[in-house]
Amino acid sequence: MGAERGQNVANAAGPPAAAAEPLCWICKQNKADSGEHKTKRSDLLAVLGKPTQAEPFYYHDLHKANRPVGSLDAKILKSPVRICAYCNNTRTQPHDRAWEAMSDRLRSRRLAVGQWVRCNRVFGSFTKREMLKVHLFFLKLFGCMIAEAKANGHDVPIDLDFFSSAIMSGRPHGEVHLEFGKHDGIIGRSDLHCWTTDPGKSVLAAWLYELDTIAVSVIYSQAGRFEHRRDLWHPRSGTNTKRFRIADFMYSKRTDEEMSGSNAVQQ
Ligand SMILES: [Zn+2]
Repeated sequence: MGAERGQNVANAAGPPAAAAEPLCWICKQNKADSGEHKTKRSDLLAVLGKPTQAEPFYYHDLHKANRPVGSLDAKILKSPVRICAYCNNTRTQPHDRAWEAMSDRLRSRRLAVGQWVRCNRVFGSFTKREMLKVHLFFLKLFGCMIAEAKANGHDVPIDLDFFSSAIMSGRPHGEVHLEFGKHDGIIGRSDLHCWTTDPGKSVLAAWLYELDTIAVSVIYSQAGRFEHRRDLWHPRSGTNTKRFRIADFMYSKRTDEEMSGSNAVQQ
């Protein structure tokens, strides 16, 4: 199924347009001449293992007819779209460092699925500010994936301007949420998956950042369209800005039945 999907997307994408040299999607001023990231395939089913809490939610993936976005195969994401050196190295460096520190701390702890972790146990000082930087770090990665997908001809119904303005202003993006969890050994990144509900055209997108024993699910949930999930973390979500719950991203231990049971609620 994976190969078939990739082929469909590749055929739909066609050759990249030889347009003028693109500008950095973050600052929109400098040439996009920096940055490089790779994606690895992983099982995305489980990344969105629980979206159906927002019922009615008749999501479909976007490979079939009349669906604006496909499952974006890793090779499709190898696009020349980039950000500028200043944005990549200077502007977002504090964000990179905040995530680096957080990932170190999470990986050095014994985490239990379902456990709540207080953010001030991750960042003992400037907790709120550092956690915001972590959010901004994932906005950069997410924005690059969206920019690449769009450059490859996919009609991703997510506005990149809000990612840009969030990073430029240092303010959170209201529709991007994080879920931190335990993982089982893979290092890499899933493809970007995007769904629209039918009816309603509400947009949900997600991908998984995998770092050996931990993983982060990065979720775009269109504002006001989905039920608020208390287990997701957001810098100003109203319920859980100060703590997050460890999710179960240990897919290799799950059976096929578990993977297809989208209503299963983890404990
Ligand atoms: Zn830039």
